[in-house]
Amino acid sequence: MTRAFDFIVIGGGSGGLAASKRAGDHGARVLMVESAALGGTCVNVGCVPKKIMWFGASIAQTLELAADYGFDIERRGFDWSRLVSSREAYIRRIHSAYDSSLSTSGVTLVKGHAHFIDRQAIAVEGQHYSAPHILISTGARPSQIETPGAELGIDSDGFFALKHQPERLTIVGAGYIAVEIAGLMNQLGTQVDLILRRSHVLMNFDHEIAETLHQQMQDSGITLHPHDTVKQVSRNPDQTLDIELNSGTRISDCDQLLWAIGRRPNTDSLELAAAGIEPDDGGFISVDDYQNTMVPGIYAVGDVTRGPALTPVAVAAGRRLASRLFDNQPELKMDYDTIPTVVFSHPPIGTVGLTEAEAEALHGDQVKIYRSRFTPMFSAVTRHREPCFMKLITVGPEERVIGLHLIGLGADEILQGFAVAIKMGATKQQFDNTVAIHPTSGEEFVTMV
Ligand code: FAD
Ligand code: NDP
Repeated sequence: MTRAFDFIVIGGGSGGLAASKRAGDHGARVLMVESAALGGTCVNVGCVPKKIMWFGASIAQTLELAADYGFDIERRGFDWSRLVSSREAYIRRIHSAYDSSLSTSGVTLVKGHAHFIDRQAIAVEGQHYSAPHILISTGARPSQIETPGAELGIDSDGFFALKHQPERLTIVGAGYIAVEIAGLMNQLGTQVDLILRRSHVLMNFDHEIAETLHQQMQDSGITLHPHDTVKQVSRNPDQTLDIELNSGTRISDCDQLLWAIGRRPNTDSLELAAAGIEPDDGGFISVDDYQNTMVPGIYAVGDVTRGPALTPVAVAAGRRLASRLFDNQPELKMDYDTIPTVVFSHPPIGTVGLTEAEAEALHGDQVKIYRSRFTPMFSAVTRHREPCFMKLITVGPEERVIGLHLIGLGADEILQGFAVAIKMGATKQQFDNTVAIHPTSGEEFVTMV
């Protein structure tokens, strides 16, 4: 027997939850299928546990500064398992909140792995379900590599499963996950090596921001191995790892090796062919501006598409799709232009709009750049000074702000408001007309000359 719904959502992560709740609130009969824990990557093995670890690391960093603020504190240790258990208890509370909000919105939840039977039907554990509208929001998983001994390492999912803090951790990669985990583990006292195949971390970010982080990581004690890759990994009798790099460098007696080399979409076991969908070369599902796939009635949002892999992007796309389908708002769609993003490195990075290189490639000598480099007051009064660098990128005689980038304490919280201004098309003059808030780091953006 096939059970009929108005809307089937495959995957209960950021995008799927948002879409299903919104559709349910609009009165649609919604089925949500989730094969693992509700909340998907963000809640279980992504943003949430990462941010909690980042907060823990930031406390460790603050304790280092405490003496210069007059506190006589002896740090007697750090209990990894206590932090992990607080983190997991918090995540369990999120799961129960999701459970109840799904039922409030009238969404039927089925646990299991879904695959397509045809364009309007799926199977989950032998049961069949149909709907005229089906959303694929199955997310992505960590990429793997063929290097000999690679399987001795872990990925970001494995990182969040660690029961003990590694004394020595080697990370491969130079993107968001690599720099975030390297930064937080370094602050928590682990000896970190970072292997990156190009010159510096975060190659897709504004180059001065990325170079500032690269330098700061080095200054804070992380050993960076630029222009290098792993040749092979072997396990010692005492269970530690030896990691041989292609440069000839050998990292010995490492407790954990973490691969952070990107993510692959979860499409291979969906039996997409049964629905007439063909993923692209990378396994991603192509969609138009309205999240429509090539097959009418089938949609995709979030990390399974080629959009920016960020939770708020998946959420916004999912909600807009649901309102388009079930709230008679046929023109509603996600605006993928000028999406702000934060890297929770130490110190954090905030970025919105074009990088300097992108702006110059698009607008040539119409581009004008404003910069500010300083030490925020919080660490300037201590022996552990940490840099802050800010950059505004403007275009044309009216100096419309088309890029804003910063690295430094508070960047994660400073960015959101400026992102609103930039989305509204603010000019440098309007930034200057805004009265500064003193003493803060954010005020630099309205006082740049
Ligand atoms: P997911 O959240 O991955 O959800 C997909 C769900 O589908 C999963 O629950 C999965 O079990 C389920 N599923 C898959 N296949 C099937 C199937 N066949 N049947 C049933 N269910 C299925 N983003 C930010 O904005 N800020 C951050 O700070 C941030 N930090 C991150 C840190 C890490 C370590 C990682 C890995 C990611 C981070 N992200 C962050 C990215 C963010 O987690 C993702 O962009 C977001 O979770 C994508 O949501 P989604 O709905 O597309 O997929
Ligand atoms: P990223 O795309 O950010 O970075 C992947 C990194 O892996 C790059 O540095 C890349 O190197 C490197 N790499 C790829 N293949 C290899 C290889 N074979 N050998 C060595 N290095 C390799 O991916 P992440 O996995 O870090 O994160 C996935 C996505 O999740 C992010 O893009 C982001 O959208 C999201 N995310 C968001 C966060 C946030 O909002 N704060 C936090 C964490 C994740 P190169 O630079 O040379 O290309």
